[in-house]
Amino acid sequence: MNDDTLLRYSRHILLEAVGIEGQERLLAARVLIVGAGGLGSPAAMYLAAAGVGQLVLADDDGVELHNLQRQIAHGTYDIDRRKAESAAETLRSINPETRVEVLCERLLGERLAEVVAGVDAVLDCTDGFASRYAINDACQRQGVVLISGAAIRFSGQLAVYDPRDPESPCYACLYPPGDSDDDALSCAENGVIGPLVGVVGSFQALEALKLISGAGTPHKGLSTFDAMTGSWRHFNVPRDPSCPVCQLRGEAVSL
Ligand SMILES: [Zn+2]
Repeated sequence: MNDDTLLRYSRHILLEAVGIEGQERLLAARVLIVGAGGLGSPAAMYLAAAGVGQLVLADDDGVELHNLQRQIAHGTYDIDRRKAESAAETLRSINPETRVEVLCERLLGERLAEVVAGVDAVLDCTDGFASRYAINDACQRQGVVLISGAAIRFSGQLAVYDPRDPESPCYACLYPPGDSDDDALSCAENGVIGPLVGVVGSFQALEALKLISGAGTPHKGLSTFDAMTGSWRHFNVPRDPSCPVCQLRGEAVSL
C-alpha cells in the first residue's frame, strides 16, 4: 500500500479487527450487487468507499424521477440513463481505485450462475420474489455467501445466508416458494420511506465488509427494523431440512 492508500483507508486500518490485513482483503475482493436502486445505492457507495477492489453492478432498469426520493447513487440529471451506469459513475467519483463492472441486464439462469461463481459475496438489492429466488439458488449452488436486504413502507429486514455453513438456512428455507402470495408487494404499489433503504443497504455493506475483512462474526438469523418505532427485532431461523434449494448445495460445494 502506498501513502495515499494507507491514508484513504486509515480509519479501517486503525481498527484492530480490520487492520492492514483486513484492508488488503477488501482491496482484493470482488462483490456482486444485484440492483442499483434504493438498497444497491448505499450498499455500493459504502463498498466502493471502503476500497473493495472490484464491484459488479447489475441492473436492467433506467433511472426515473420517482426513484430519486431514495436511490441516492442517482441524481436529477441521470434520469433516463441506465441505473448501473449512473451508479457506476457515482462509485468512480467516490473511489477511482475501485474497479466497477456494469451489467445492464437482468441476470438469470446460466448467466447468473457464471457471474455468482466469480465473486466473494453477493448482495441482493432487488425487489421481487422471482429475482430473490434465482439469486438464492445460484448462491447456494455456487457456495457463495448471500447478503439479503429488503425494505417496504416502514419495514426493513436483513439476513445473511452462508452456504459454507451447514447450519445456515437459505432464503427459500425462510420463504418457501409458493407461500409468497404477495408477489406484487413492491415499492411501486406500497411506497417506502427514503432513509429506510439507507439503513438496510448500509447494513448489507457492513456485513459484506465484515465477511471479507474477517472482522467480527457474520449476522445470523433474520433482523427486522420497524422505522415507525425505530426498533429492531431478531429472529433465529433454522435450516429447513426439507428445503429443496439448499439440499443442492452439496452438489456444487466441497464443504
Ligand atoms: Zn433452504
